[in-house]
Amino acid sequence: MMKKTPIQEFYERIPTFPCKEGCTRCCDNWVQFAPEEEARCGGFAFDGPLCPKLKNGKGCTVYEDRPLICRLFASSVLMPCPYGYGPKEPLSEEETHAILKEYLKLKREQEEAYGKNNL
Ligand code: SF4
Ligand code: SF4
Repeated sequence: MMKKTPIQEFYERIPTFPCKEGCTRCCDNWVQFAPEEEARCGGFAFDGPLCPKLKNGKGCTVYEDRPLICRLFASSVLMPCPYGYGPKEPLSEEETHAILKEYLKLKREQEEAYGKNNL
């Protein structure tokens, strides 16, 4: 098994929970992702407001590899589910900010490295 990246290690700190059956409301969005997440998911070719990884009736087709922001919806007190779903112990405001701060730093570094490699 390949070694996890620092971004994948963040995933393990985010509590999971079962969503309302069939609900995809959180995927009606322009999702943010780091270059390594985009690569793992096979790219995000948006042609409308719905995430292109959402397939009719099948939910997320890259669920195991979904980006960090998708994992934070309803798993943080800062992004509550409008239907009241979520884990028993969501991430606190401080925990969410700590993860996002580090994540955005790594994302920026990857974007800069990607830009340089593609000049
Ligand atoms: S977190 Fe709530 S709104 Fe989002 S997909 Fe799950 S049930 Fe739907
Ligand atoms: S990657 Fe998956 S979980 Fe994230 S917005 Fe797209 S369909 Fe939803």
